[in-house]
Amino acid sequence: MSKPESRVSLTGKTGHGGGLMTTAVQDKGTAIVTGASRGIGAAIAKRLASDGYGVIVNYANDARGAESVVSAITGTGGKAVAVQADVESEDDVAAMFDRAAKQMGPVTALVNNAGEAGEQARIDEQHSDALTRLMQVNVVGPMLCAKHAVRAMSTARGGQGGSIVTIASIAAKAPAGASGLVPYQATKGAMVTFARGLSNEVASEGIRSNSVSPGVIDTELVPPDLRDIANQAPLGRIGQPDEIAATVSWLVSPEASFVTGTDITVSGGR
Ligand code: NAP
Repeated sequence: MSKPESRVSLTGKTGHGGGLMTTAVQDKGTAIVTGASRGIGAAIAKRLASDGYGVIVNYANDARGAESVVSAITGTGGKAVAVQADVESEDDVAAMFDRAAKQMGPVTALVNNAGEAGEQARIDEQHSDALTRLMQVNVVGPMLCAKHAVRAMSTARGGQGGSIVTIASIAAKAPAGASGLVPYQATKGAMVTFARGLSNEVASEGIRSNSVSPGVIDTELVPPDLRDIANQAPLGRIGQPDEIAATVSWLVSPEASFVTGTDITVSGGR
């Protein structure tokens, strides 16, 4: 359905006609992208906005980064708003979903992207508080976001259905060669299982749940030694955030209407 008004951004700017975001008029509902102030999340937010979603650009600390992503989206006619919420906090997550629905419209997609690498150290040198924080950000946070996404999307609760994509990692398979990241690997394994299990729980309520497992992608998260490992992938290079965003774009789209409970590896062959 054509809805020209949706080119008007939440900041009141009008979009550029006939430019990059010609599909923004399609109004596909609201997509919440956690950890979208930079890196993979920023690329996903921009891509989903160009696909026609109103996008919640979530961040924890980097307000300036999130606002620059919002400006990039609204400057080309898309809809976006930056929302601060620490995914560890259920109060923050609940407030983010509430604001999304009120300010942007019904939530139809959640991309659980926010994450951190934790301490890079052998298990016998890891600190208890750092392990707890890693579990909170990488495991509990995505589960809290999924909880509120299901409440918003479930047809059994009056929602219109939707899609949840969780960004896991090839680290979930604990490949040899990456040292000091065992706890991070374990959190990503948990996310592959979570996305799969969730797909069973909510399939009959119009919600698909999948995960994407990137290989080494060119962002601030990647330690220097992992960049060297990236070049050993069959495709011989590090991946780009846009290459993950393209996969997420497909997964949330109707083109993937029969795809749920699966994990897609995007790793240059690793
Ligand atoms: P990044 O550049 O370090 O960006 C991380 C993002 O997460 C930032 O926007 C950060 O926002 C946000 N964030 C961190 N903690 C948060 C919290 N508690 N609540 C809300 N937002 C939070 O990382 P990236 O490389 O893009 O990684 C994105 C996802 O891809 C992660 O889940 C990561 O594990 C996964 N991944 C990355 C790679 C890779 O090679 N880069 C490979 C496989 C998987 P603030 O700065 O505002 O806190």
